[in-house]
Amino acid sequence: METSTYHLRCRECGKTWGNQPRSICEDCFSPLEITYDYDSLRSRLSRELFASRAPNMWRYRELLPLPAGFQPSLPVGYTPLVSAPRLGERIGSRRVFIKNDAVCLPTLSFKDRVVAVALANARSFGFDTVACSSTGNLANSVAAQAAREGLKAWIFIPSDLEPAKILGTQVFGAEVVRINGSYDHVNRLCSQIADEHRWGFVNVNLRPYYAEGSKTVGYEIAEQLGWRLPDNVVVPMAGGSLITKIKKAFDELILLGLVDPKPVKFFGAQATGCSPISTAIKQYSSEIEPQRPKTIARSLAIGNPADGHYALKAITKSGGWSEDISDHEVVSSIQLLAETEGIFTETAGGVTVGTARKLIHQDRILPDETTVICVTGNGLKTTDVLANAYAAETPIAPKLSEFEEYIATKAANLPSAFEETASAGVGRQSLIVQGAQTAAAASSLVGAAND
Ligand SMILES: *Cc1c(COP(=O)(O)O)cnc(C)c1O
Ligand SMILES: [Zn+2]
Repeated sequence: METSTYHLRCRECGKTWGNQPRSICEDCFSPLEITYDYDSLRSRLSRELFASRAPNMWRYRELLPLPAGFQPSLPVGYTPLVSAPRLGERIGSRRVFIKNDAVCLPTLSFKDRVVAVALANARSFGFDTVACSSTGNLANSVAAQAAREGLKAWIFIPSDLEPAKILGTQVFGAEVVRINGSYDHVNRLCSQIADEHRWGFVNVNLRPYYAEGSKTVGYEIAEQLGWRLPDNVVVPMAGGSLITKIKKAFDELILLGLVDPKPVKFFGAQATGCSPISTAIKQYSSEIEPQRPKTIARSLAIGNPADGHYALKAITKSGGWSEDISDHEVVSSIQLLAETEGIFTETAGGVTVGTARKLIHQDRILPDETTVICVTGNGLKTTDVLANAYAAETPIAPKLSEFEEYIATKAANLPSAFEETASAGVGRQSLIVQGAQTAAAASSLVGAAND
């Protein structure tokens, strides 16, 4: 495979560091980032070239840091961008799209993109063991892709992760180390281990390479909108890397003449129980105060976000905003997305959908603007948060009479479902209001079940 020219550069002092497993500038201790020779790329790249290639993230290969001779072994990415009119009616937007990384391959989260790029480089840097600190999805993805590549994997996680995310790591034969502590403790430990063991930590010493994989979400959104940029993007934030990389992707497409320049507002989404970035933004502060996470949105539970500062800058400079929602709203938003669009997201997607709804209600996102909501993970990994949401149905005998009796009881007991049917045919405006009420009713139902 042909490769682009790229290298590490310090984000603050600009010093270049070639290509090596390193994430911090030795001179000024700032993070390193990959930069490309955009002048030489401009003449080589076109919409037609990308479109002529297979539908996966490798179609943007020149804009990724891939070593010479790299051959991808998995068709990662190019997930659906789906219009979401029913969700839109309920949250008050007429042009809303879901970027659905709940179905990203191979492990059903957007982390497959970053891991694919990190492992391509782990190999070329000579590592036979890869590792990571993870809030869950990264663990799944490193374990799976390491198995595929024949690399050994050491995975470090907080001990209280969702069972499905732990099992979904162990099944690939990875060494799983559970740490009594938060993600921030796990990550600190991994930085120390990375100094002692010659391992490729995808989000520590390989972090600049890893992070570039997130750009493919941005390229895909633009291409799937017909090589146009949206007005707004709503992105969940953990370490804050993804949102900055979607912005970098849009900036690159403009720089390369592949899309028309256009202002895009970036909106960050967090859970209130772990909201260091949104809290700073809402207080008009440029300082991010670390928090001790307490939320069911475990994949976003990073109290001291590595890229928080850059995420905050990207959001505020774009004219965007950040909000956070309660765990209660996370659950009702998971249900809302599932019931309106047939997409089952994990808690992080609930955070994004619920935050988008809040931003629309605040008039920060307007109904006729094109808004993309990033759904980054799959609901089957966090089913525990819905454990109390639905009553266990009592089974009935295989008899028509029993079913008729059953359906009669249902009709008597389920007022909210019938309210919704009754609203069909009402004008759009009242539907939006109705939707808001139904969502509130749904969340109060969940609340009752949880109590
Ligand atoms: C890791 C993760 C994020 C956030 O990624 P950052 O780049 O750390 O902000 C969002 N959603 C899901 C499901 C994740 O696993
Ligand atoms: Zn520097």
